[in-house]
Amino acid sequence: MKPPPTGLQTRAVHAGETPDPATGATTPNIVMSTTYAVDPDVQFSIGDQEGEAKTGYVYTRWGNPTIQQLAKKLAALEEAERCVLFGSGMAAISSLLLHVLESGDHLVMSDVAYAGASELANEILPKMGIRISRVDMSDLAAVANAIHADTKLVYVETPCNPICRLTDIAVVAQLARKVGAKVAVDSTFATPMATLPIQLGADFVIHSLTKFLGGHGDAIGGAVLGGKADLLALQQSTLVRMGGIISPFNAWLVLRGLATFPLRMRAHEENARQVAQFLEAHPKVKRVIYPGLTSHPQHALAKAQMCNFSGMLTFQVEDGPVAAKVLAQHLSIFHYAVSLGHHKSLLFYMDTDSLLQSSFWLTEQQAASYRAFAGKGIFRVSIGIEDAGDLCDDLTQALDQL
Ligand SMILES: *Cc1c(COP(=O)(O)O)cnc(C)c1O
Repeated sequence: MKPPPTGLQTRAVHAGETPDPATGATTPNIVMSTTYAVDPDVQFSIGDQEGEAKTGYVYTRWGNPTIQQLAKKLAALEEAERCVLFGSGMAAISSLLLHVLESGDHLVMSDVAYAGASELANEILPKMGIRISRVDMSDLAAVANAIHADTKLVYVETPCNPICRLTDIAVVAQLARKVGAKVAVDSTFATPMATLPIQLGADFVIHSLTKFLGGHGDAIGGAVLGGKADLLALQQSTLVRMGGIISPFNAWLVLRGLATFPLRMRAHEENARQVAQFLEAHPKVKRVIYPGLTSHPQHALAKAQMCNFSGMLTFQVEDGPVAAKVLAQHLSIFHYAVSLGHHKSLLFYMDTDSLLQSSFWLTEQQAASYRAFAGKGIFRVSIGIEDAGDLCDDLTQALDQL
């Protein structure tokens, strides 16, 4: 799909949606039907996204009108030709990796990535004969060293979960291109409000829709976006065959959440900036990492690569495990909970040693780079769209208990 010549907010409201031809309803219907009455000569095939309405739907695992509307809206926001949707961010990641990689292939992957993706790469992909080099992707020399003639895919996550370290997508894409490797970017933290990885040279963009895009903490979903040929192949292979589709109801919730996505991202960013500055000045806080702060070690890259610094930050205190108990008990607006990108503010403590052991399996040098961002442990904070003053007051009274 060619990007429509409209602004992001207009696309967030209108892209993919037209009044229902049968009823005139201006808001998308939820089509929960699993199957569709078809012409006897309809083939079991997947139409392309433009042609699908003409050829009709057959079975919801292949295609569904509500899911289709969401795919079109996301493609318009990401300025991608095509989008394929999945039942979760992890279903999107696992399907993409199993689609692109086969036994004997070489994958270069960020050493720190969403824990689920990292564990998939450490524990499951090697059993399938896929060779993996985990690399600190803030170290471009290390990336250049790791990419070889037989590298098939380079997997980036920026800012990476949970430490908010950044990767220069354009440079990594140039390095990958030299050997003909494809580049996938998990852009869940950044969102299309901040960064458009395809314009920087990536082939695939991955989103957990569960986070900022859905934005309301009530629907799990995932997406892969990219060029038409690549994405049609992905849809025909792993989406349909492994079957990790999104529920039409969840697609509808995300579709509805997206209408306010740019407005929410501006509020997330503004609140995160205020909370980050507040925490940075707080006597009990040792360190704050937020891409929008000048103190972020890669603030220059953040400014160049992100048009919005998003709502994710981390902070460190003297005794994290004790503070986790105190904050969980005393915070009244923040929820002590995993996940992120919701309208509500969330925070969760992540102990460095246990995370390195369970999820990341880093070399000594990589662990040192991780600790440079995370110390002994971080509170990963997802700043919601409440009033920033109330968030700071809530943190003040809870930190006073330490
Ligand atoms: C949450 C998350 C995922 C996984 O998404 P699910 O929808 O929970 O499966 C992947 N990548 C990042 C960066 C995430 O934050």
